[in-house]
Amino acid sequence: MSGICRKCLIAAQAEAADVEAEMDSFLKLLKPEDLAGEELFSERIAICRECSFLLGATCNACGCYVEFRANVKDGSCPKKKWQHRV
Ligand code: SF4
Repeated sequence: MSGICRKCLIAAQAEAADVEAEMDSFLKLLKPEDLAGEELFSERIAICRECSFLLGATCNACGCYVEFRANVKDGSCPKKKWQHRV
């Protein structure tokens, strides 16, 4: 059986260690008050996991890595699926 896993986020991809390190560097550039926080991040990622636009940790609607976007407090979903969670 072959196929592409559409639901593997960066954290789940061993080969994505460089991207994960890049995300850590990115997050260190943000002020603590600009971070979404663990609860909001998790809520957003749960929505992404159920979304048909998620493709290999990337949002196919905007091209962003969803984990980058979801970590920013003022981050938004291009399809407004996070709207009620902000
Ligand atoms: S950011 Fe929005 S459109 Fe993109 S994968 Fe997540 S829920 Fe879907």
